[in-house]
Amino acid sequence: MEKEKENKIAFLDVEIIRKNKQLLMNWYTKSIASGRLINYHSNHPWKQKINTATSMIRKVALLSEKEYIEENMKKTKNILFKNCYPSTFIDRLINNTINRISQNPDNLPPDNTNKKYIGVTYIPGLTDNQILHKIINNKNINYAHKPNNTLNYIFTKIKDPIPKDQQNDVVYKITCNGRDDDKCGKWYIGTTKRQLGIRIYEHQKDAANKTTNTGLAHHLTKSNHIADFSNVEILDIEKREKTRMSLESIRIQQQISNTLNFKEYFDNISRKVYKTIRKDPTQQLMRKNNAIVNELFKENKINIREKFQLASTAAVAPRLYGLPKIHKESMPLRPISSSTRVPCCKLSKHIGAILKNIISEDFNIKNAFQLKERLKNINIEDDEVLISFDVISLFTNIPTHLAIQTIMKQWSQLEKHTNISRKQFQNILEFC
Ligand SMILES: [Zn+2]
Repeated sequence: MEKEKENKIAFLDVEIIRKNKQLLMNWYTKSIASGRLINYHSNHPWKQKINTATSMIRKVALLSEKEYIEENMKKTKNILFKNCYPSTFIDRLINNTINRISQNPDNLPPDNTNKKYIGVTYIPGLTDNQILHKIINNKNINYAHKPNNTLNYIFTKIKDPIPKDQQNDVVYKITCNGRDDDKCGKWYIGTTKRQLGIRIYEHQKDAANKTTNTGLAHHLTKSNHIADFSNVEILDIEKREKTRMSLESIRIQQQISNTLNFKEYFDNISRKVYKTIRKDPTQQLMRKNNAIVNELFKENKINIREKFQLASTAAVAPRLYGLPKIHKESMPLRPISSSTRVPCCKLSKHIGAILKNIISEDFNIKNAFQLKERLKNINIEDDEVLISFDVISLFTNIPTHLAIQTIMKQWSQLEKHTNISRKQFQNILEFC
């Protein structure tokens, strides 16, 4: 939670200022903002550079109260200038943008939600060719240039690789070579925060001393096999201990029949959060999805076209992956759970569209522009305080049954937008 300071509070990309019982808005950038945009000379599509500058000018013009505009425009000019935009070009853009805003009294950016975008790799002189643009572009489809050499892509390889045995915070794999004709091919998965070389040395010593303290030593001692200590594989590098332990567990469980680890070491994945399942339930869920869709079709709640749209054919399990937050220390991962092509993905969308009808306008805003509109007519008394909330892991913290309960409480509103019965609707919510 954040409280107002000196009559000001930051929210989205604006600063809300309390003045004479009114709320004023000012365009706002964080003090740590780098001010770096696409450089004017960079090899980006021309349109992308213009859009970068225009959208910034637009934001400043629309989100700032009249009394702040001049100062903010100066700041904007400065930022664009630092990114090598020529000053005559900046002035022209500012004039054009402000003219366009005054011609469009609603002051809202065009609604592009129904337009489909396709990504095209940018090739200078070819994909920004006007004739090609005319051929591809039409009312419903627009193509956008897709960057392929991103910073993220380049900077993952910027350092010379550290020799394997000097790396730390790793999950590693040691394969057993068997002995003579006795082929083995099983492996041991381990993790260490120290240098890998030291840990490997310890494993070698354990084997030489015929100990049984790890799954690997136990196996080598009992079977007289030899492990391939010179070709240890690094599977993961992860600084955070708990996450690394979980990774180790996942690696062990991936091919559990081939690993030499002791059973009790498998359990580093939090049992509270994750449950091990024996069988991939995707196919079963797909059949359930299609049974629901068939039922809806039989009862004439959806037409044949919708039936084919909502049915699931080549479904996959949802995937969890992480995007590094490169602006934060130690680059933590932002977990992303991708539900593309999961069994219920189309049915969820269908239900989502129905739910959208009852979203209360009173409690939702689309963007900072809308916020400005809303704040216009609000009076604030001296004994009132401005606060803003920041929710951590919003969706994972809402219990599903509570969400469903809350939705079903509004059934009297919902039923106006669908012909699905109450019971069926609740069933679908629980399934999705
Ligand atoms: Zn072996």
